[in-house]
Amino acid sequence: MKFTVLSLFPEILDGYFQSSLMKKAVERGLITVEFVNIRDFAQDKHKTCDDIPYGGGAGMVLKPEPLAMALDSVGAGQKRTLYPTPSGRLFNQPTARELAKEDELVFICGRYEGIDQRIIDEYVDDELSIGDYVLSSGEIASLVIIDAVYRLREGVIKARSLEEESFSDGFLLEYPQYTRPEVFRERSVPEVLLSGHHKNIEVWRREMSVEKTKRLRPDLLEKSTSD
Ligand code: SAM
Repeated sequence: MKFTVLSLFPEILDGYFQSSLMKKAVERGLITVEFVNIRDFAQDKHKTCDDIPYGGGAGMVLKPEPLAMALDSVGAGQKRTLYPTPSGRLFNQPTARELAKEDELVFICGRYEGIDQRIIDEYVDDELSIGDYVLSSGEIASLVIIDAVYRLREGVIKARSLEEESFSDGFLLEYPQYTRPEVFRERSVPEVLLSGHHKNIEVWRREMSVEKTKRLRPDLLEKSTSD
């Protein structure tokens, strides 16, 4: 799978792809990544990529021309193109699963007040928000989406790990996890996990998942009963 990311500051993104699991996925050829600097497509000698908003108001808006040229240079018209934005549809695990089926995704990283609407109208397939808050730019939001998507690709991590995590079972959060030692600062691992009794462990984990979801994300359970 290929991720192409258009940004004014691609150096922010680079390190992420050079560490840990992501690095391994790149080295094993499971994913490839291309960064495109939008400023390389600016048309004046000052390399201007933003301008004041029509209609007035605070802040600047990313100009359409450099963005359009950058998008054309990567063939964005024929590829699924995403614009992470707080005014988008909320990104979640089902959307990550759906995006993981694509061979290539193109990301536009916004800045300032965002990008010219005509770029969205002409190129963007999905406007996705990573949460109800405002970041200063789209690089981190793009990385969040890329990270949630690439780990679902075959071969990146064990299928069993994906089956048992939060949201994999529809609307439940994951049960608590423990590792050695058996007692840490007088806190013991729940006995059932030491019993070796697989059925009881499964029942306990399910109960813990439901309890945790009720406590921290009751909205997920409400959604599961209304769907
Ligand atoms: N004026 C915009 C608004 O009120 O919706 C906010 C722009 S924000 C300061 C600059 C850029 O950060 C956006 O263009 C987008 O790319 C990114 N961004 C900020 N918050 C985000 C979020 N919650 N999800 C996805 N992208 C976000």
